Amino acid sequence: MGLVVQKYGGSSVADAEGIKRVARRIVDTKKGGHQVVVVVSAMGDTTDELIDLAEQVSPIPAGREFDMLLTAGERISMALLAMAIKNLGHEAQSFTGSQAGVITDSVHNKARIIDVTPGRIRTALDEGNIAIVAGFQGVSQDKKDITTLGRGGSDTTAVALAAALDAEVCEIYTDVDGVFTADPRVVKKARKMDWIAFEDMLELASSGSKVLLHRCVEYARRYNIPIHVRSSFSGLPGTWVSSERPAGLAQLTSRLAPHPASHPASQSASESASQGDSPVEQAIISGVSHDTSEAKITVVGVPDKPGEAATIFRAVADAEINIDMIVQNVSAAATALTDISFTLPKSEGHKAMEALTRAQKVIAFDSLRYDDQIGKISLVGAGMKTNPGVTATFFEALSNAGVNIELISTSEIRISVVTRADDVNPAVQAVHSAFGLDSDSDEAVVYGGTGR
Ligand code: ADP
Ligand code: ASP
Ligand code: MG
Repeated sequence: MGLVVQKYGGSSVADAEGIKRVARRIVDTKKGGHQVVVVVSAMGDTTDELIDLAEQVSPIPAGREFDMLLTAGERISMALLAMAIKNLGHEAQSFTGSQAGVITDSVHNKARIIDVTPGRIRTALDEGNIAIVAGFQGVSQDKKDITTLGRGGSDTTAVALAAALDAEVCEIYTDVDGVFTADPRVVKKARKMDWIAFEDMLELASSGSKVLLHRCVEYARRYNIPIHVRSSFSGLPGTWVSSERPAGLAQLTSRLAPHPASHPASQSASESASQGDSPVEQAIISGVSHDTSEAKITVVGVPDKPGEAATIFRAVADAEINIDMIVQNVSAAATALTDISFTLPKSEGHKAMEALTRAQKVIAFDSLRYDDQIGKISLVGAGMKTNPGVTATFFEALSNAGVNIELISTSEIRISVVTRADDVNPAVQAVHSAFGLDSDSDEAVVYGGTGR
């Protein structure tokens, strides 16, 4: 049988009990005849705690040392997991990202994988071991420094290893039963999808559905690696993410799933999986996502003449900051001055304000405004392209919920708006209901994690 890569998120290995539970599941997969490579995240909220600690020591820590610190979280869980597996009588070896051959560029805190050379993993597998790899980290090609791949980066490690090892599937184990039509923490009646296309998943991930990281989905699409997102707490089949809906979803899931006997929920699992085999058309709308991790900067009083926007965004880009949405107001006739607003990750807010303050000497704008009390709501679905009513229904739902809109952006298959942070949850719920996405059966379960 084939090779399976399994990734366990922080909430799945939050404590010793969690690590032992995950070890049993891994051993079940191995007993099913598969070679198993496991990618593991830091325990629970360890990464957040390490970041808090670093900030107490230095408000803007140096990238190299910050990465050294953060990778320690994953090293703790990889070693403990290998110990727990050995305790069950199976051979396991743990590897850091560097030892596993994850080679990156040298941009600390958000490095990109440029090559994967998993020679030591292959050897470990050939010798009958289960290989455990620390997620979210690599080593830079030129300086040989330890790097991290950005928050949530263990998802990318898993898919990159799956591609390099030619795995049959990359399973992402988390604290919910799969990809839902909205975050189950916000919409109790969110519906689990049994399949979603890479294209829609990319938009959901990039607009805030952190169940899968955007880069991981991009990587999986490029190398055509099917992802199976599922819960490590239940035995239920999850959501397949692939280019096309796989034929015989139920059979595929049960062949690759660990032994049902050890998972009490598996009865209803096979029932719901077989329903998933009916030839359903792809839905018009895949889901609603939200994101409260961004802030908005407004550059007030920019001279309305060619080149000013270019200078502003060059200053931001030179500080290596990615921006998201942009809006430019019509200039006031009397002053010929305009305002430009854009959104960016809150974590980059400080850096961006500094870069723009420096640029004020060249651009001569009036002032800068920083607002981190915003949220973004997005509606995603490939069917949007051919259904003209979607935009109207979306804005009607927001209006009925009394939500004021500050910024709008669209792609072919997504509409996003920025609102006040307090309006995000009611807005997501209103839009979810307006598109008939509410499930009439069980409420979506969140098994663990703090959602941090
Ligand atoms: P892990 O620690 O396993 O990496 P994450 O916290 O990164 O887990 O991702 C899982 C969380 O993603 C869920 O607990 C859920 O709150 C959130 N989430 C956001 N959008 C969705 C969605 N559309 N479907 C499922 N989960 C979602
Ligand atoms: N531990 C890292 C984080 O919390 C990476 C990951 O979990 O994927 O972001
Ligand atoms: Mg995650």
